[in-house]
Amino acid sequence: MTRVGFIGVGTMGLPMAGNLVKKGFSVTAFDVNPAAVKAAASAGMDPAASAAECVAKSDLVITMLPSSPHVESVYTGDGGVLAAARPGTLCVDMSTIDPAVSRRVAAAARERGVRFIDAPVSGGVPRATDGTLAIMVGGAAEDVAEARAALSAMGTTVIHVGPVGSGEVVKLCNNLIAGVAAVAVSEAFRIAEGFGVDPKVVTEVIAKSSGHTYLMEHMHPVPGLVARAASSQGYQPGFMTDLMCKDLGLAVDAARGLRIPVFTAPAAQQVYRLASSHGLGRQDFTSVYTLLRPSSGQAPV
Ligand code: NAD
Repeated sequence: MTRVGFIGVGTMGLPMAGNLVKKGFSVTAFDVNPAAVKAAASAGMDPAASAAECVAKSDLVITMLPSSPHVESVYTGDGGVLAAARPGTLCVDMSTIDPAVSRRVAAAARERGVRFIDAPVSGGVPRATDGTLAIMVGGAAEDVAEARAALSAMGTTVIHVGPVGSGEVVKLCNNLIAGVAAVAVSEAFRIAEGFGVDPKVVTEVIAKSSGHTYLMEHMHPVPGLVARAASSQGYQPGFMTDLMCKDLGLAVDAARGLRIPVFTAPAAQQVYRLASSHGLGRQDFTSVYTLLRPSSGQAPV
């Protein structure tokens, strides 16, 4: 049986690792947050006291961390994954990070005889829980083939996109669209509400029209319209505003590096930054809707 070391059992990592346990993998879990390690132990995982301990017990290492600096330090830092892994160990980073960082970590891994692929995910907490994530994978074909059984325990769509870093490229493209869509849907529903049109009816009509999006169908920013949406659970994440802000930053940086003009991504990123400065950083990103209240100003528009 493949022994999996899972590092980062937070909002997404915990249900993902839980699906590995349910499908018969033996999972050792580590997180810097002791409460997360405790939750992992309750879900049938073997708790580890450090990343090194987690890796030493494993054939396959999976990381699900917040952002690029976390991934780089967990792999290449003192007491990190690469120092502890046996040569030949396969590492799968499922976090959403800068593709250039994935490539850098893969190169550092290669120097130590360790294999590294990137496999970011889409689908959020409901699909992480159901084991139906979409997983976009970058890496050597034989490494992707070896990771496929574990990835298939967490997602129903596992697509090999290209060489290492390519999964992250697709992921940042996806989140550019989702991040902009959440702002657009929020703006549209505030306008409809301003005219007194029932948001439930607006949703029904748009669901059959050209403005229909996955975001409105599954992550509706208006509370009470989609039962599993974060908005219907008091905007508990879900996917945090600060993480969406990070992902739009990755898209903007990528575009800058390629000298491609982009307009909607930086605008949406500033909306999330503003939401964060209003205390919504750790709420679900669709809470931007709550920020877009009508102004009370009396001046002519
Ligand atoms: P999270 O903050 O809830 O979980 C990350 C976990 O990593 C936390 O438990 C944290 O304590 C742990 N961690 C941080 N530094 C660590 C370290 N040095 N060693 C060990 N553990 C460490 O975030 P999340 O929502 O689970 O997101 C994780 C990644 O998945 C992010 O890159 C995010 O962009 C991506 N993602 C999230 C969602 C979502 O809906 N939440 C969807 C798709 C992708």
